[in-house]
Amino acid sequence: MLEVAAALEIVLRLARPSPPRAAAPDATALGQIVAEDLAADLDSPPFTKALMDGYAIRAGDTGPRTVVDELPAGKSPTIAVNPGEAIRIFTGAVMPDGADAVAMQERCERAGDTVQVTDSGLTAGKNVLPRGAEMTAGEIVVQAGSVVTPALLGLLAGIGRTESLLYPRPRVGVLATGNELVGPAQRPVDGQIRNTNGPMLLAQAARLGGIPTDFGIGPDDEEELRSAIQSALDLSDVLLLAGGVSVGDYDLVPKVLASLGVDIHFHKVRMKPGKPLLFGTFGGKLVFGLPGNPGSAFVGFELFVAPALRAILGYADPGPRVRPRILSNDLKANHDRPTYHPAITDDDRVTVSPWIGSSDLRSLARVNAFVVLPAGPVVFAAGTAVNTLILV
Ligand code: AMP
Ligand code: MG
Repeated sequence: MLEVAAALEIVLRLARPSPPRAAAPDATALGQIVAEDLAADLDSPPFTKALMDGYAIRAGDTGPRTVVDELPAGKSPTIAVNPGEAIRIFTGAVMPDGADAVAMQERCERAGDTVQVTDSGLTAGKNVLPRGAEMTAGEIVVQAGSVVTPALLGLLAGIGRTESLLYPRPRVGVLATGNELVGPAQRPVDGQIRNTNGPMLLAQAARLGGIPTDFGIGPDDEEELRSAIQSALDLSDVLLLAGGVSVGDYDLVPKVLASLGVDIHFHKVRMKPGKPLLFGTFGGKLVFGLPGNPGSAFVGFELFVAPALRAILGYADPGPRVRPRILSNDLKANHDRPTYHPAITDDDRVTVSPWIGSSDLRSLARVNAFVVLPAGPVVFAAGTAVNTLILV
């Protein structure tokens, strides 16, 4: 059986960034990756500017100065500051010719048309930002590979970008399978249960930057499942199937995928929960068959789908993020496969959560990590460093 690392390698070999597309860089692009180097179109600031409310002066002058004009932000100076003169100026205004510093108004005494600067240590350049101090026209200020963040969106606006090349978000289709499944509005009867994987996986896909599409519930019937998968595949870049991927008589997903011509790269990974996980491709599309138990589907997503989505989005390091953390409690286990146990991490520590098994969503809803336990008997005392899968 494939180890997690080997399976992940296969997924990441086949998950490639989609061709970049021009898009308006706005808040809907948060978390996307810029696919080009971007240069400043202008010097910034575009003029030498006052950083304080006060008086634009010549630092070398002494004695009282005559106030000859007033300059608010957004107005061009019309006259220069000559020796013995000052111009009343406000934060963000263009520095007038002749002036080389701004005396803060809190350190000035004004009487009629005269101002006396009480700040004795005022030197040239004080409270002034020279033109081009932040960036000069033509300089590359955003590197390809940068993540779109709020500050980056501000920067893009600052360099006049109304469009830039971004790796597009993949459409992530989610189709839950199982005759026993009903929607959340329904009260389950006669062996039914509610479909919890659907909403969970859609949200996981959205959190990772995909465009989630809900394809509802497919039945455990070969013909009907084939047509449900076919339609979902048509409209998805990444398709997540949940349930029906194991070895039972009603686990039809592997068979149906094969009949549709999906290339199956692996089926089963040496991990717990989530062993029966399946990964295939169909043209450039990725297909994941996640086991139906919510814990299995969740861990399968975080270990394989999340890195695939990050790779498609153009992230240089797609993860998963596994880091050592210091155990807060003693931990004893004996699993036949490497096991991902729900846990809560806070800074450098991790605390294992109570968990009754892979159907236990209550436990998952409280955690932000999984402790990775090796196969076989393990006894970890509190204070031991353990590998921890950290959720985004
Ligand atoms: P399967 O992988 O189809 O064999 O399902 C394994 C277990 O997960 C069974 O107990 C199913 O009833 C349950 N299950 C399957 N799909 C879902 C789902 N979408 N939501 C909640 N439980 C599910
Ligand atoms: Mg099933």
